[in-house]
Parts: sequence; C-alpha cells; structure tokens
Amino acid sequence: MSATRQQEIARNLEQVRTRIARAEARVGRPGGQVHLVAVSKTKPLSDIQAALAAGQLDFGENYAQELRDKRLAAQAAAASDSSATTELGRLRWHFIGPLQANKAKYVAGHAALVHTVDSEALMRELDRRTAAAGADRQDCLVQVNVAGEAQKSGVASADLPALLDAFAGFSHLRCVGLMLIPPNASDPEANRPHFRALLRLAEAQAGLPRANVRWDPLQLSMGMSHDLEVAIEEGATLVRVGTAIFGARERKE
Ligand SMILES: *Cc1c(COP(=O)(O)O)cnc(C)c1O
Repeated sequence: MSATRQQEIARNLEQVRTRIARAEARVGRPGGQVHLVAVSKTKPLSDIQAALAAGQLDFGENYAQELRDKRLAAQAAAASDSSATTELGRLRWHFIGPLQANKAKYVAGHAALVHTVDSEALMRELDRRTAAAGADRQDCLVQVNVAGEAQKSGVASADLPALLDAFAGFSHLRCVGLMLIPPNASDPEANRPHFRALLRLAEAQAGLPRANVRWDPLQLSMGMSHDLEVAIEEGATLVRVGTAIFGARERKE
C-alpha cells in the first residue's frame, strides 16, 4: 500500500463524510443517522485496509464470490498480523448486488446486511444457508423496483406487502428496511421522486406489525456517489458510495 493511495482514500472519505453531514444539516436531520457503506467492488483488499485505517467499517460488494473471497482474505490477514486484528475484526460486509439463490451460500450468515432481497425463493435459500452457517439471523433489506423498470431486479411496489408477509415463514431472516437502485440518471434531481416514493412505500407499510420485520428504526438504502445528497434529503439511512471513495472502477459491473 503506497502512502499516497492511503492518503487519497482517507481524503476522499473525509469529503464524503462532509457531504453527508451537510445534507443531514440542510434538512434538519440529526447528525449520525446516515451510515456510509463504502462500495469496494473490484478494488483490492489493500484499499479496504486503507479505508479501515481511516475509520470506515462498512463495506459493500455486489458479487457474492468476491465478497466471500475478500472476507476470507481479511480473516487470513487478521490472523497473520496481530496489529491489524482489531480493525479487520470489526469490518462489516454488505451485499448490494443481484443475488441468485444458488449464490446465497456465499453471503448468508456472513454479511451485516443483504440489501437486495426480492423474491421468496431467494429468502428460502438465505434462511436455509444462514442456519447452515450457524448464524442466528441474517438482516436483510427488500429491494423495490419503484420505477417499474422492465428487466430490473427488485420487487414491484404492488408486490411488496406480500413479500414482507412472507418473512413470517423464515425464522433466520429479519427485514430491517428497503433498498432502491434508481434508473440510471446522471441528474441527481431526476432520482428524487424515486427516493421519495420508496420512503412513502415504507411509511405505508410501517404501521402493520409483521413477524421477522423490524423497522425500528427503519433502514432505507438509497443514494450513491453522485446523488447521495438528494437521497439523504429524502430519508436515506444508508448510502452506498464507491467511486467518490476509491475512484473509478476499471472492470465494468
Ligand atoms: C456500484 C454500486 C454502488 C456505488 O456506485 P458509485 O457510483 O461508484 O458510488 C452503489 N450501489 C450499488 C447497488 C452498486 O452496484
């Protein structure tokens, strides 16, 4: 790890934290409600360690095997370097990509949060694999296709209530909120109606008690490098930020 790369990541993190704090302040939200997930997909473990050294604990990956590989590499690094143990031991993984049921085993029971649950078939496999991994529970978000885009992952807004009901059948899962990937708009303001729609949907469902659904506090995962301010203004509690922290990615996702 070069000292300059380390400094670059630390400086970028500081800028993102400032952007988050300013957006919270602008709409009168108390500071500290919004959690930053540093999206480290395609980036090496050394970048993750640099961010960890700068106080970042939550990391997001969108390929199941890549999360598994990095998690095991981090464990191995922690075991071989006692000075790194404390930091690496506190690292939390978030799974933010499309998840096929046959890949659930790579993340179930090992992620702090799976952001992209969108079908009962996936829930069944996550539940089974969480138990098999010896974990009590896997916290999840339901991804909603708020904009109703064809061929996009996420449950249709109209099908959200039924999917939330289905959590009652899976004792190793807990739904803690909702997640959104808006249409690919370069103008952040174009995403505002979608962020707002996710909050409205959540509010409409929040009053109904459901088994294994615990929205207290409600988690809303929305907002990325270019539109995190707008997402925070509309109620995001988790922002997923890659490029603004680690720079552009070479490999296409
Ligand atoms: C890659 C990715 C991000 C981060 O995007 P940036 O524009 O690099 O901040 C956020 N969310 C998801 C689901 C992603 O796949």
